[in-house]
Amino acid sequence: MLRIGQGYDVHRLVEDRDLWICGIKIPHTHGLLGHSDADVAIHALCDALLGALALGDIGKHFPDSDPRYKGIDSKILLSHVMQLIREHGYDLVNCDITICAEAPKFRPYIDEMRRTLASVMSVDIDQVSVKATTTEKLGFTGRREGIAALAISLLQKSTILPGGQ
Ligand code: MG
Repeated sequence: MLRIGQGYDVHRLVEDRDLWICGIKIPHTHGLLGHSDADVAIHALCDALLGALALGDIGKHFPDSDPRYKGIDSKILLSHVMQLIREHGYDLVNCDITICAEAPKFRPYIDEMRRTLASVMSVDIDQVSVKATTTEKLGFTGRREGIAALAISLLQKSTILPGGQ
């Protein structure tokens, strides 16, 4: 049994914030604004995972009105989502993320991003794809007002039942 899910997220770029993408801190003049660390790529990925099992979205599971999630490392949210997926008896087949940003250049960080996500999700690195693109200076991403991320995930019914039986 296969299940597919998609996710999309946007955060605004502002001064005086760290830029966290795919679980790593990237040197840049601006960072993303949000209630959590605003890791737009992890948020899109969480929505893709939750969407695959029709479990709602990240805002339902981790509401930004909840002070517990203020400034939280989004890797913790991803880890919770993966736990939920496994509790429902599913495993990740693969996921694929696209980051849309005019700057900075993400290419030097792609492998570290994939390693970091794979480690948080307890999967192999070849199950995790991360890509980045500009939008040719068009739109809010092109004007460097924000960063968008898209994600897709494929899950399969696990052969081992939750609890290891
Ligand atoms: Mg978000």
